[in-house]
Amino acid sequence: MGKYAALVDVSKCTACRACQVACKDWNENPAVKTMQVGTYQNPPDLSHLTYTIIRFKEQVVKGEVVWTFFKDQCRHCLEPPCKEVADDMVPGAILQDASGAVIFTEKTRNCDFAEVRDACPYDIPRKDPATGIMYKCTFCNDRIANGMTPACLKVCPTGALQFGLRDDILEKAEMRLRKLKKTHPAARIIDEDEVSWIYVLHQPEVQFQMTRRERKPSTMYALRSLFKPLGVFAAGAALVGQVAKGGE
Ligand code: SF4
Repeated sequence: MGKYAALVDVSKCTACRACQVACKDWNENPAVKTMQVGTYQNPPDLSHLTYTIIRFKEQVVKGEVVWTFFKDQCRHCLEPPCKEVADDMVPGAILQDASGAVIFTEKTRNCDFAEVRDACPYDIPRKDPATGIMYKCTFCNDRIANGMTPACLKVCPTGALQFGLRDDILEKAEMRLRKLKKTHPAARIIDEDEVSWIYVLHQPEVQFQMTRRERKPSTMYALRSLFKPLGVFAAGAALVGQVAKGGE
């Protein structure tokens, strides 16, 4: 269980994107040139140079335009599926520290990117096409280790983002939910038992541009490791069979 957590109170986000800029700044990630394609979402997606974005969704609900904003980045899962699948390929490629941060290392270049990305319930991992190394939000674990608040959480001007001890953040999320429920009956907290980034949504999930897939059971990864030696054995047996056939 990570020591710290972040609260994302989606109802307070105004899409100012100070969090995006702070993330780029702290991580020294350059801006990328983009084009206007009919949405204010910019850049268009996460990448090896963009660890967080505000996703925009514009739709008409009951004759009214509803515009929602959703801050997307790694949720720093308490039992990260990305780490489980990577451990099976390259032990130590993905690490987790006591703060709760899940960290991609340079060793991720030797992992199967498609499998790691597919394992993530929120479709977060991205790869540098030049080096093969995978990147995502680090929860600013270097800042946390030095007693500082993660960059994006520090700069939020509306209070939509907060940082603190996990128990305190969970309490704040519950308080906020109770208040929101009075005006937004569909309000809910999502995945609080599984992640360090706790989201309070004020509207139904479908009204946000977000990915949230079913988690694959961790037994699946355990079984895969178990059967891996059998796979090697089967391949070896097949090879011996082929050689024997050739001999005949
Ligand atoms: Fe890994 Fe995805 Fe969870 Fe982040 S959100 S820790 S990338 S599984």
